[in-house]
Amino acid sequence: MKHVPDATADRRFESDNTVDRVGVDGLLSELDEYAVEQALQIKEKADGDVTVTALCIGPEQAGDAIRKALQMGADQGVLVTDDAIAGSDAVATSLVLAKAIEKIAEANGAADLVVTGMASTDAGTSLVPAMLAERLGLPQVTFASVVETQGDQIRAKRDGDAATEVIGATLPVLLSVTDQTGEARYPSFKGIMAAKKKPLENYTLADLGVDAGQVGLDAAWTAVEETTARPPRTAGEIVTDEDGSGAKALAEFLASKKFI
Ligand SMILES: Cc1cc2nc3c(=O)[nH]c(=O)nc-3n(C[C@H](O)[C@H](O)[C@H](O)COP(=O)(O)OP(=O)(O)OC[C@H]3O[C@@H](n4cnc5c(N)ncnc54)[C@H](O)[C@@H]3O)c2cc1C
Repeated sequence: MKHVPDATADRRFESDNTVDRVGVDGLLSELDEYAVEQALQIKEKADGDVTVTALCIGPEQAGDAIRKALQMGADQGVLVTDDAIAGSDAVATSLVLAKAIEKIAEANGAADLVVTGMASTDAGTSLVPAMLAERLGLPQVTFASVVETQGDQIRAKRDGDAATEVIGATLPVLLSVTDQTGEARYPSFKGIMAAKKKPLENYTLADLGVDAGQVGLDAAWTAVEETTARPPRTAGEIVTDEDGSGAKALAEFLASKKFI
């Protein structure tokens, strides 16, 4: 799950055209709350001992996103922080996530399920889940809008542009979920208190055996060359209907904007 700049707050770019992730308010990406929720529901339905680990790559502040997941009910958290990671693209992000998942497996056993959101709310490429599945050698079930599990079986409804598919798979798999999977829970007071005692580990690139040259802006396959601030909103046009000519005026306005 990703820590992203708060879309309702002031957002800025750094001088190298990457997103300022340190000097702005951030939060757990809203779309990743659905991933946390599905992981928790799957745990609650499962027989036996299940551990939900919240994993995030980001600056120190990204620990807040992990704490939110712990408050919701995740059992433990892992934050990967390293100055060299700043400016990483999806290729590098998926590499670091895969290495972190492999390291988590050393202490917890291999993951049965890796759950991600459908896209981050800042970059929104939707590339990381597929790349991560490839790196981990896992089958992928992406853009799931309904998820059902039974034992080591998973069934997911996948809504595409042209068709709706129902996909069945045997764990382990990588699953990415959409905002249609159901409301994410709010942390309860009990959850907030319990989260304070849950383990949150920090990894660096060296802990994961990742060479700094494989990540960061210099290693990225794409570069943002220029950014322009969105123009300020202009006042809207109000069409009144005092003499019955409102509908015609409205139609003319829409036609002038090529909406009809
Ligand atoms: C303004 C701007 C400039 C950028 N500049 C560049 C650039 O110059 N070059 C470049 O190559 N890239 C650039 N990026 C892309 C940026 O680095 C991406 O954030 C990164 O590639 C991850 O991809 P994504 O956010 O699209 O994730 P998505 O693929 O949309 O995310 C899908 C899911 O993957 C998981 N995930 C994604 N990121 C993380 C994470 N950090 N920790 C844990 N889970 C995660 C989450 O579950 C998420 O829901 C830029 C982005 C922005 C907004």
